[in-house]
Amino acid sequence: MKIKDNVKELLEKIPQNVILVAAAKTRTPEEILEAIDAGIQIIGENYVQEAEKAFALIGRRVKWHFIGHLQKNKVKKAVKMFDLIETLDSFELAKEIDKRCANLNKIMPVLCEINIAKEKTKSGVYPEEVETLLKSISPLKYVKVKGLMTMGPRFGDPEEARPYFKKTKEIFERIKKMNIPNIEMKYLSMGMSNTYQVAIEEGANIIRIGTKIFGERIYRGGNK
Ligand SMILES: *Cc1c(COP(=O)(O)O)cnc(C)c1O
Repeated sequence: MKIKDNVKELLEKIPQNVILVAAAKTRTPEEILEAIDAGIQIIGENYVQEAEKAFALIGRRVKWHFIGHLQKNKVKKAVKMFDLIETLDSFELAKEIDKRCANLNKIMPVLCEINIAKEKTKSGVYPEEVETLLKSISPLKYVKVKGLMTMGPRFGDPEEARPYFKKTKEIFERIKKMNIPNIEMKYLSMGMSNTYQVAIEEGANIIRIGTKIFGERIYRGGNK
């Protein structure tokens, strides 16, 4: 019951133009289905293997976003399942996606993940590398960049995240103005349970919410 109420409350709160992704890591298919019943249309998955289990049960009645760190050896499976890969962070990964998608004749929409605070423990490209990476991806036929994503550093006070969201939005606008062929700046994915309101204020149009939908995560078997 609780999951339903959480989803309804969130959907009422967020503006119409903002896309809500339910971040489903560690959740059971039953929990995910409850969220879908309440109106969730996009599921975010961090792990390909975990996603496969949920996908087998739920299938294409929702869209699937990949929001974890994508390893090259998981790309073949990932491109079949996911509607958007939010975490593209290297040319090597883009090349692998391009190769696998060429075989399927599928154009894969992706977001470029920015490591906006240059945190050693996080993936994503540094702000000063974004332009070069996007220009190198531009000629790839089967990869279509649709925007940017960032995690941003975690703080107790969501206001502390605001400057990092602002910076990401600035990069988004700068890249948009450059009109790089095949590089579109349509989606800006930032904000999680504790920061989504600030993120929306700073221009996010995709938010990724786990805890605020499903409750606190209980880690089973070492998944983060
Ligand atoms: C887990 C996760 C989220 C959601 O985090 P919550 O704080 O539980 O809302 C969002 N984005 C990514 C990439 C995640 O891994």
